[in-house]
Amino acid sequence: MPTAGIDRPRPNQGNVLCLSTRTNPVMTKRADPTTIGREEVVPMAETIIDYQDTAVEVHRVVVGPVENNVYIVRCRETGDSLLIDAANEHDLLLELCRDLHVGQVVETHGHWDHIQAVEAVRNAGIDVAVTQADAAMLPSYDQILEDESTVSVGRLRVATIATPGHTPGSMCFAVEGTPLLFSGDTLFPGGPGNTAPEDADFGTIITSIEGRLFAAFAPNTLVLPGHGVSTTIGAESPHLDEWVERGW
Ligand SMILES: [Zn+2]
Repeated sequence: MPTAGIDRPRPNQGNVLCLSTRTNPVMTKRADPTTIGREEVVPMAETIIDYQDTAVEVHRVVVGPVENNVYIVRCRETGDSLLIDAANEHDLLLELCRDLHVGQVVETHGHWDHIQAVEAVRNAGIDVAVTQADAAMLPSYDQILEDESTVSVGRLRVATIATPGHTPGSMCFAVEGTPLLFSGDTLFPGGPGNTAPEDADFGTIITSIEGRLFAAFAPNTLVLPGHGVSTTIGAESPHLDEWVERGW
């Protein structure tokens, strides 16, 4: 049963980082580590649970000066997890990696605010993967993510979707068999991510959003962005023409 707090889209927030967060969070409780079992992991650090069903749970923490969302996707059958964006506050992220058995990190893109904890997690022995086009933005990395490939997380399969525009190597991630789509800074409630920087391109991000996201995912797909609150494909897709018209 989904427990996501899906906020209404906010049409005026499209071109900026969406910074209002923490609506209707379900906070996990601190627990005696001796009571932590494989079947019912309660992390020592508090996380927001954005979604859970019988197969998967999605933990989120908000870190750093521009409030980046860091997501941890956990297979409930095996307890293995994937962390999306080693953004910042590495001590917190390393604690979560340990408690939630994170074996792999994937990066949605290479912007500075999404990569501040990359070295710390690599030093802890966790592989970091990023697209070739954004790899040079990272201090270091372990693997290159290809488009239309799959990352295994326990029994879960996470599909990679190249969505250039915000950066040349921006990528979204979808957990197969679930309504979960992690959109990085490509799609927010109210519009695409910022395409003002030199290596960004508005036409390219629109093509990515239209072709790879709106055309490919069901309206009830939960879109979990790199900053701010979640939305759905169905809430955003009717507004594509307005975004093209306004040019951001
Ligand atoms: Zn960015």
